[in-house]
Formats: sequence, C-alpha cells, structure tokens
Amino acid sequence: MILSERIKDTKASITLKVNEKINVLIQQGKHVYNMTSGQLPFKPSSEFVSALGKQLNFLKSYQYSPIAGMSGLRVKFLNYYEEKRNLKFSDCTQEFDCVISNGSKHSIYNLLGVLINPGDEVILLTPYWVSYPEMIKFWGGTPVVVKSHAFDAYTPYIEEIEKAISPKTKAIIVNSPNNPAGIHYSEEWMKSFGTFLKNYPDLLVISDEIYSELSYFDPEPSYFYQFDKSLLAQTVIINGISKSFAATGLRVGYCIADARITKAMAKIQSQTTSGPNSLVQRALLDFNFSDLDNYFDPVKAQLRDCAQMIRAAFREANLPHCYYQTTSAFYYLLDFSRMPIYEKFKDDKNSDCSKEIVEDILEKTGVALVPGSAFGYPNSARMSMTLDSAPFKEAINKLVTYVAQK
Ligand code: PMP
Repeated sequence: MILSERIKDTKASITLKVNEKINVLIQQGKHVYNMTSGQLPFKPSSEFVSALGKQLNFLKSYQYSPIAGMSGLRVKFLNYYEEKRNLKFSDCTQEFDCVISNGSKHSIYNLLGVLINPGDEVILLTPYWVSYPEMIKFWGGTPVVVKSHAFDAYTPYIEEIEKAISPKTKAIIVNSPNNPAGIHYSEEWMKSFGTFLKNYPDLLVISDEIYSELSYFDPEPSYFYQFDKSLLAQTVIINGISKSFAATGLRVGYCIADARITKAMAKIQSQTTSGPNSLVQRALLDFNFSDLDNYFDPVKAQLRDCAQMIRAAFREANLPHCYYQTTSAFYYLLDFSRMPIYEKFKDDKNSDCSKEIVEDILEKTGVALVPGSAFGYPNSARMSMTLDSAPFKEAINKLVTYVAQK
C-alpha cells in the first residue's frame, strides 16, 4: 500500500462524515435540523468587515507575510492578553512571544510538533475536542485520558488528573470554555488546578482559550495563571479569531508561549506553510479590538435562551436530572446513559452506542447531532445551539421526546 502507517492510523474528522450523511438526506428531500455546526451563523462585525475592505488595494496584502506573523500583530495579541487577563509577560522569568498561524488548529499542531518526542504522553480531559488525540498521535505521542461526568457538569477531579501523571507526561491540554460540553471550569477549579501544578513544574499546560469570549452566564472564564502569575512559566496559550471574531474561514490563530517554543513553531512554518494570510493580518493590525466589546451581546442573549429552552424541555418531559447548566461556547453534550432511551441500546458489555443512537435520532426526528465517542465520552452526542429560536425549539422538543422513551 502506498500510504504511510501514520496516515492510516489517523481518523478523519467525525463532523465531515456526519455532514456527508446530512447532505444525502437533504438531497432526498428530508427536513433536517442540523445541530452539528462548529460555527455561529453570523457575519463578523461590520467594523471588522470594513477593516478587511480597506486593505484590498495594497500590494502588501497579497504578498508573503513574515513567517511567524506580522510583528505588530504579534505584539497586539500579547498586549490584548495582558489587558484581558490582567498580567504582564515582562514580569515572567523567561521571555514570552507570540506566533501566528493559519488558524488555532494549525497552532496546536505545530505546538505539539515542537514538544512531543515519540512515546511522550499528553493528558486530555474528557470530553475533549476531537482533533487533540489525532494530532498527538500524528507526532508520535500518546494521549492519556482523564474522565469527567455529566453530573459534575463535565468538570474532572484534580485528583484524577494527578493519577494520570507519569514520568513520560509532557503536557496537559485544558480547554475552557469546552468544546463539546459548553461549560468553563470554575474559578475554584482553576485555583486548585494551579495548586496542583506547583508540584509539577516540568508539566506544560496548553490552555486552549478559543471560546473565551463566548461565555453567556457569569462568572466569566478565569485561568489558573491569573491567580498565580508564576505559573505562566509552564503555560502555553492558544487562541484565534475563528470564534471571537466569528471568522472561522479567515484562518488566523495564535500561540503565546516561551519564546523558545514560538521560535521552534515558526521553524516548522518556515518549512511548511510559510506565514499566515497577509490580508487578514493587515486588517487585524488596523482594527480596534475593543470594537468587538458589545458584538456578542445579541449572540449571548440567544445562547441563554437556547440553554433555557433545553432546561424547560427536560423539565416538561420529567427528566430534570438529565439537564446540566451550560455557560459558554455554543454546545450542549447529551449523556444518553442517564436517559430512558438508553435502555433500548444498552448491551451486557456496556459498549458505546453513541453512533447507533445518533443515527436513530436522525432517522426518527430529523435532528442531526455529532456522536460523542469522538470526544472521548461514550453514549453521548454533541448538539450545537446555532439554529434560530423557532427551529431550535422544535428540534429540542423532538429530541427530548425521543430520549424520554423507554
Ligand atoms: N480548539 C477548539 C476547542 C476548537 O473547538 C476549535 C475549532 N472547532 C479549534 C481549537 C480550532 O479553531 P481554528 O483552527 O478555527 O482556529
């Protein structure tokens, strides 16, 4: 066979597969409530769209960017972080820098490439974003999974994380707000996590903060390093414009870390993708980030409504114990194992039947979800809260009626 072992072992993104199925159903004339989306159905702010337009007539917008991204924009992201998180990178013992890539997925991929030696372990907290384990394996590392549960609002215990540490542990990925759970870890959790990290100064934390601007119930997300700034020494921050600017297609992500790490990531870019998109970087340089301050207000109001609709539907179906409170991002993770419908699918071996349930839901109700097995959480499915209110309510009612069946 001509393909490498490495690619043979890599799974294709589950959302791509689900979308193929949805398209077939739509072509057959079936009505589908598509709740699989990984993006909001909104255009970026008009100020940002006009900032893009202003760069169209410059030659430099169409030419190679510096490999690590435009220096002014790298500084702008660093300043933005200092302001948002109330910290100063210059107070840290080591030098910090920012490297810009083609989306934060690309940042994470490059980051893992500069960190992982074959056999190194990277700890993941369930439910986790689908791409983490595949990227870790692609670079020769081993994902080590720490479980959480729906009844703890998908927040893992620090003691369980501690049990997962081994001499081979290189890093841990913390994704708060979380895709697919739609929650962010509490301040109390972040403080305990910080206390735990003090005992493991060689452990790197990859803090994936891509949804940090999208929290719709207070308190807002906070991060362990804000409570003890010395922990920045073992922190790598990932963020980007996909979610915070509602611009998934413009492909700009960034990583803030020890300059030795960002330089090494730029080295990968120099031999692979080169620097990121010049036009978008120039628009970002020219754009006042604080113009986004109120941009999400209507979006957050809609997400709050959706969360309340879910809660009402579970209550009406007499299943309040199946509901948990989401607070951020735009996802909800259904844990089928706590719902009556699970009895129909359950087998003696306790196998994961996420895929079977999701297929049955699609067939019987027209609601399309992403099976939760890909997020490391068996017997579950991710639902995106990205439909308009009326179809969202319809879909939720159909879904809850379905899961309430014995
Ligand atoms: N991290 C998480 C948790 C995500 O959900 C996503 C996108 N779905 C990314 C990173 C990557 O985002 P992008 O490459 O669009 O910046």
